[in-house]
Amino acid sequence: MIRLDPLRTPSEAAGGGCLICGDRLEYLLRDEWMECAICHKKEKSKTRCVNGHYVCDACHAGGADAILGYCLASRSKDPAAILEGMMSLPFCHMHGPEHHVLVGASLLTAYAHAGGGIDLRDALKEMLSRGGQIPGGACGFWGACGAGISTGIFVSIATGATPLSAGSWGLSNRMTARALAAIGAVGGPRCCKRDSYLAVREAVAFAGEHLGVRMELGEIACSRSGQNGQCIGRRCPFSGADRT
Ligand SMILES: [Zn+2]
Ligand SMILES: [Zn+2]
Repeated sequence: MIRLDPLRTPSEAAGGGCLICGDRLEYLLRDEWMECAICHKKEKSKTRCVNGHYVCDACHAGGADAILGYCLASRSKDPAAILEGMMSLPFCHMHGPEHHVLVGASLLTAYAHAGGGIDLRDALKEMLSRGGQIPGGACGFWGACGAGISTGIFVSIATGATPLSAGSWGLSNRMTARALAAIGAVGGPRCCKRDSYLAVREAVAFAGEHLGVRMELGEIACSRSGQNGQCIGRRCPFSGADRT
């Protein structure tokens, strides 16, 4: 079984303050236009942190605050354990585009704890913003599973890649290609759990080989096949079907 990462609440992780910077919140008497620090949507609100950070209602509803809080509270070096913990939170569905963020967020968190030199809070904020732009169904409609793309975003953030970079540009694209190859080799129909596990497994190996950071990786065994009407059973590398 996967080891669960010990859970603390988002507000505990942020010390009861802003999830973006950790500073304290302030409450205004009247609504003001605020820009979401994660998705950059503008809406009216009375709550922000003393440094002006605001997280919109949709990002709250989509689990952005839960993801940020969970990852900042974690001390794990095992991205599969972190992923599993977040999949068990109420915002996470059996399938859904939240997995496009969960994969990269789990990887960035484990990478930071395994010695990767990144500012985790900044990195997670960027992951939420970029991963949140990948639509549901990209696997079948674009030929690029969002969980796979999320590993490329992880490498891009970890290495500071841009469209003009040389080495890091190559690594980011090779990471996505490797994750998609593993995901594609199993075949469909899609399962956001299976595809996320495959993506994380490839990224742990890739980071060890190319980034010099050795994350941990416990055994991954699926516990949710009963919730998946399209489960491929024994064809799934994480299926418990042939273990019982
Ligand atoms: Zn703040
Ligand atoms: Zn937002």
